[in-house]
Amino acid sequence: MRLPSRSWSTWALWLLGLAALCAAMLVGRGTLDKAHVALLLLLVVLGGSAAGGRALGVTLAVAAFLAFNFFFLPPYHTFVVANPLDWLVLLVFLVTGLVAAQLLYRAQSEAIAAGRRAAEVDRLAALGAETLSAGRADEALAAVTRVIRTTLGVAECDVYLLDAGTGALRQVVPDHHDGQGPEAPGVTRWVAENRQAAAELADGTVRMAAGPGTSALGALVEQSAGARSLLVPLAVRERTVGVLRLAKPDGIALDPAQRRFLDALAYYAALGAERVRLSAEAQRAEALREADRLKDALLASVSHDIRTPLTTIRALAHDIAAGGDERALVIEEEALRLNRFVVDLLDLSRLSAGGLPLVVELNVAEDLVGAALQRVAGLANGHEIHASLDPAEPVLAGRFDFAQSLRILVNLLENALKYAPARTPIELTARRERGDLAFVVADRGPGIPAGERARIFEPFYRPPNARPDVGSAGLGLAIAQRLAAAQGGTVTCEPRDGGGSVFTLRLPAADITDAQLAIER
Ligand code: ADP
Repeated sequence: MRLPSRSWSTWALWLLGLAALCAAMLVGRGTLDKAHVALLLLLVVLGGSAAGGRALGVTLAVAAFLAFNFFFLPPYHTFVVANPLDWLVLLVFLVTGLVAAQLLYRAQSEAIAAGRRAAEVDRLAALGAETLSAGRADEALAAVTRVIRTTLGVAECDVYLLDAGTGALRQVVPDHHDGQGPEAPGVTRWVAENRQAAAELADGTVRMAAGPGTSALGALVEQSAGARSLLVPLAVRERTVGVLRLAKPDGIALDPAQRRFLDALAYYAALGAERVRLSAEAQRAEALREADRLKDALLASVSHDIRTPLTTIRALAHDIAAGGDERALVIEEEALRLNRFVVDLLDLSRLSAGGLPLVVELNVAEDLVGAALQRVAGLANGHEIHASLDPAEPVLAGRFDFAQSLRILVNLLENALKYAPARTPIELTARRERGDLAFVVADRGPGIPAGERARIFEPFYRPPNARPDVGSAGLGLAIAQRLAAAQGGTVTCEPRDGGGSVFTLRLPAADITDAQLAIER
């Protein structure tokens, strides 16, 4: 609905109409009553108010009042009124005309405001539909910006997206849907950081909103009529997700309804921006998962293919070494080491994919400790390994995969032997810790700095100061920890009082007596 027309032609038409009516009534003045004249004139005043608004209504009312007096109240053709009662008629006529013009104007304004609000609701509903119906997040956001552009009558409507991880603020709409658009200029960043709107004025200066929130935004837009651009922060649930930039070379001027509407539109843009962010995050996670799957598959297949020729090399080197060639011995040892590495790689990828079969059954700590000591006997290198079982417990038993737990314990012992200085003693203790069976390996080695303690369990991690010649790839602890976790256990590392490290393998304990053990086995 539009406001009544205020063009000169409307004014001219109605004033001419009034003149024509007066002329027509003059012809039959003798037969017309004062009431007829007043009613016909009032009709013109009301028509003029409806068509041309309050100003034309008032003008017509005054002109009709004068014409009434001049032409239709004796003595004619003067502004003198002979009958004092006619003054009352004139006054009532004037007041009626003015009040009618005002009432008509108010009714029209209210109808227009209601129409505007209905249009706003329609626009918002359309925005909601656009946001929901677009298949891709970036398309939804682009659709929202199109609606904003047409609703607010601006030339440009861009959205900058804030990357919560890197803090980068990049344009995504209209041109860079991949989120790799240019970095936002300084003012835009200020808007995102302070969550306060800003306006770039025609003279090149920037005006900031007095604070965050809707009223500060409304005040800024009102004070900055004619601004070249407007920067509005986009937030969802108290979290800044980006910035909306509106621009118009010949200046942005929003009427009160558009200013009110801007806040709701910005919220839609914020929802659109948030959807773009979430969908990019989901895509990244899916790409990572896919890369991980590929890596595991590749690792498994390569490891498998390497092991077959390695077995042949080892067998041949073994035969040649038997003939007395020492170089063949080196080849055999190196092939053995490579084979171990390949097995580790394969197991790590299987463990990550949850595909390593485990045989979890009742076992006693004593057997595991005995088997581990046997395995490392040849590596002792002058170290003494002091093994002890907690004498307070009659049977130290647990439910675990014997072969894989042996592998973990051997790895912990090998590390202690490898990293602790020669001839320092190594303690191996088995004890009960509430629901766990704990195997503790303590050495007097260099220890592990606090910052490295979590990282040594990452695959391929070797501390920066690690000796390069120890012949290992940094997979041992990563596999040990995953193997323990697969059985419901853990491997941890703590510093040892007086220097060195304490590595503890914890596995689920079993409550069982000697007699029960004998039956179970
Ligand atoms: P690696 O095969 O290199 O020994 P691990 O995963 O077994 O790989 O160990 C990772 C790193 O943790 C090692 O490179 C070493 O620096 C450190 N580390 C492991 N055990 C000990 C220990 N007992 N004392 C000191 N450092 C150790």
